[in-house]
Amino acid sequence: MARAIYPGTFDPIHNGHIDIAERASVIFDEVVLAIYDAPPKKLLFSTDERLTLARTALAHVANISVTTYTGLTVECARQNEADVIIRGLRNVADFEYEHQIGWANRQLAQDVELCCLFCNGDYAYLSATILKEVASLGGDTTQWAPVPVQQALRAKFNLPEVSPNTRGVSRKGSKLSYRG
Ligand code: ADP
Repeated sequence: MARAIYPGTFDPIHNGHIDIAERASVIFDEVVLAIYDAPPKKLLFSTDERLTLARTALAHVANISVTTYTGLTVECARQNEADVIIRGLRNVADFEYEHQIGWANRQLAQDVELCCLFCNGDYAYLSATILKEVASLGGDTTQWAPVPVQQALRAKFNLPEVSPNTRGVSRKGSKLSYRG
């Protein structure tokens, strides 16, 4: 039986991640989406919040489970008895990064294979960073994230449930805020 882990920060999970997870679930018997507990970057959502959002977003796929981990990704793969690490590729920058990390992981664990899937064109420029920035400004994120994630973002940014327009809120220092 082929089991794969799909590791990442998922702060929060969005449609690009979900697309990769769903497609991996067709290729592998079991997919474990593994949320890295403490990445060296500032997070918006706690580990528990990221876990709950990911579980909700993927509840419709029977052979995907969601967990959290700390430490090496290859150790997470071993603990979950997974032979494969899945990653998503959006562009050349992702490729370069994954190539390097993949090389390091391979040095650490030759029994764990890397499988990179190209992203769906609809999400080629989508990142959790863009999603959070647009959400923080009250923009419409319906095409980028499932409803529970949209709601969680609005709650984080103290925004009302429904936004009357997408460019009304200006936050100083944001590249996406209205400067007209
Ligand atoms: P990390 O900090 O490990 O890169 P992310 O949560 O940002 O974690 O991403 C997890 C995985 O999802 C990575 O393999 C990343 O390349 C992939 N990914 C991110 N955004 C997209 C997207 N829009 N489409 C497809 N895959 C994506």
